[in-house]
Formats: sequence, C-alpha cells, structure tokens
Amino acid sequence: MTKSAYTAPDNTGHFGTFGGKFIPETLLKNASDLEQEYSKAKEDPSFWEEYTRLLRNYVGRPTPLYHAENLSRKIGGAKIYLKREDLCHTGAHKINNALGQALLAKRMEKKRIIAETGAGQHGVATATVCALFNLDCVVYMGAEDIQRQAPNVARMKLLGAEVRPVESGTKTLKDATSEAIRDWINNPEETFYIIGSVVGMHPYPMMVRDFQAVIGRETKQQILEQAGRLPDVIAACVGGGSNAIGMFYEFLDQSNAIEMVGVEAAGEGLEGLNAASLTKGKKGVLHGAMMKILQDDYGQVTEAHSISAGLDYPGVGPEHCYLQELGLVDYTSATDTEALDALELLATTEGIICALESAHAIHYATVRAKQMPEDSILIVNLSGRGDKDMDTIMKSIELE
Ligand SMILES: *Cc1c(COP(=O)(O)O)cnc(C)c1O
Repeated sequence: MTKSAYTAPDNTGHFGTFGGKFIPETLLKNASDLEQEYSKAKEDPSFWEEYTRLLRNYVGRPTPLYHAENLSRKIGGAKIYLKREDLCHTGAHKINNALGQALLAKRMEKKRIIAETGAGQHGVATATVCALFNLDCVVYMGAEDIQRQAPNVARMKLLGAEVRPVESGTKTLKDATSEAIRDWINNPEETFYIIGSVVGMHPYPMMVRDFQAVIGRETKQQILEQAGRLPDVIAACVGGGSNAIGMFYEFLDQSNAIEMVGVEAAGEGLEGLNAASLTKGKKGVLHGAMMKILQDDYGQVTEAHSISAGLDYPGVGPEHCYLQELGLVDYTSATDTEALDALELLATTEGIICALESAHAIHYATVRAKQMPEDSILIVNLSGRGDKDMDTIMKSIELE
C-alpha cells in the first residue's frame, strides 16, 4: 500500500475501526473547538514557520543521525544507525509535540495548560514550553510515578509547574490521564489539554503524529546523505506510540521495501505483568478512543507493567492498531531484562546512556541486525536519554 492510498484518519477521526471520539457530552465542545483550530493552523504557513524556528533554535533540531559503528561491529550484520532524539532539549522527543500544542494554545488564547505524565518526560516538556510562553501549568502524575521519578518532579517544579499527585487506581499514567480529562471537563473555557502521546480522542492522535513526524522527515534526508539510500529496517519503542509513528510516518509510502517494527514493553514476560497492548490487548475504549487495551474478561482495564515508566500504559494509539491490522508495521516486544542488557551494551560500546524506553528498541536491533547482511541498514529511534532512569538502572545492574 502506498502513502497516497494510506490517508488516515478519516474526517471523523477514525483509523479504520480505531480512534474516534468516545467522550462525554460535556467535552464535545472542547474537542471540536480544538479540531477546528488545528485544521486552520495546519493550513497556515506562519504557524509552521514559528514551530520550525523554535524546533531549530530552542529544541536543537535537526537531531543527528549517528552510525553506531562500535555497536554494529560488536553485533555483526546490519549497519545500525541511531536517530538521536535523546539530544533534544529536555532529553526526549516529547518536546516536539509539547511545543506544537503550546503554540496552538497560544493561538486559541488559552492561558492555562494541563497535562498528564508517567515518567515525567512529557510533564517536563510541557512545563518547559509553559515557562517559555508564560502559561500556567498543572501536571497530573500518579503518586506511584512521583516516587519513581523524583528528579523529573523537581524539574517540573523548578520550571514553575504545579504537580498534582493522583491517588486513584494504580496511581500511574492511566489514572493521571483520567484525572487530566476530568479537569478539562470542569474547566472548559480557559484550559488547553496537552496530551503527551498519540492517544486520546480525535484530533489528538493525528495532531501529535503531525508534530512528531519531523523525526522521520529528518531521518530520510540524513540517511540519503550519509548512505545514499533508504534503510531496510526501522525500529522504535512503543508506549502510546508517538516516537514510533513520528519515525514511521514519512516512510509509510515505502512499506513494501522498508520493514517498520514497533517494540512494546513485555515487562516480566508476555505471560506475566507487561505493557504489550498490541500483542496481548483486545479492542476497547480508553481515554476517548477505540484502541487495543490490556483488559480482563469483563472489559476492565488491567494493570500494565514495565521497568520503564514511559511504556507503562495499558493502551496504544489507534493508528498503530490500524497499521498492525493492515500489516504495514510489525510489532514485537522486549522484556525488562532484555532492555537493561541492551542499555548497558549501548553505554559500554558507544558511550550513550539511553532511556529505558529506547533500550527496548535497541534490544530488538541487536537481535535483528545479526540476521541481516553486512551492507544492510537498520535505523533505531533513540527516543530519549537515560539520566531520569539512573535510580532504576542502579537498582537493577550491578556496577563494579
Ligand atoms: C514517553 C516516552 C516514550 C514512550 O512514549 P511514545 O509516545 O510511545 O513515544 C518513549 N521513550 C521516551 C524517552 C519517552 O520519554
């Protein structure tokens, strides 16, 4: 299928049977105001000019595409390239999206921003752009995640944001998201909700994808410059799915020649606690959209687990569900242990400490590259840096 054939979502926000707008009536006006404003901004060159200028001068784009020769040699097989989203300001791809949505909030003259966060990366990115544009910022975060991600909580506070602990449910990302949606319902006039991944009701999955698609556009140009041809395989980790779709979107029209692989968190293993919604989930509604979610026989959302807080979400963006169904992208998973081993390998061979989330994609690369010929090319989206994970890493890896 070519990209000209692949146009999603449709004008009701559906990716096949996934996506849509499953929201209470009290939220309909918010969502349709946002939809209208975004479709205007999308056609407005001055909106993208300001966005692109800030991506360059504030975020630090384009991020490098780096040929990891030591890692490639150690593993054998394909040449492995890393798209260095870890070098973005604030340490992950999240800021590409937070910046775009904050510019939209400014356009809509909204003065108050709310956001949800799991690992804290989206909270930090949102607090950052709020400081930049002088907007009030409230970040909802599960009480459990506040414990796990103390450095990011401190960063958000230093940036002037209020961090609101969420004590309901499993006290993690899913519950923080529910709480943020509740806030949006109660404060419809002045509040803009910045969602951190390609999840939620239409138009978020489309809008967040559009803001992250810069990753794949840069990558295509860079690999053509450096290697003179397109890659054979592209891999990215999948939590909600924003860094992966940001990388894949530009290449979807070549999906017959390029294999695209999303790597979910298998946690303790696919038969134990995990966050592999595409592999183990079933169709259902979560946070306003039809998607694949981890659920029990009664349709109750079950607990997700991953060593990386950023992948610890029981659902996955509707576009990935659709791409899986169409067979345009393959999805696999890596366990906590495999991610930790991959993280250590990358650190010792290349001097790059990546985020635990990204390490899931690195694990896949180490398995896959070996099976590929030496002149082939495998690109991994390195979604973020590992500073935020040092506590978790030091509890799990024995350092001498
Ligand atoms: C948040 C995060 C992820 C997971 O989110 P996606 O929307 O799936 O990209 C992955 N890596 C890092 C570094 C993150 O901060």
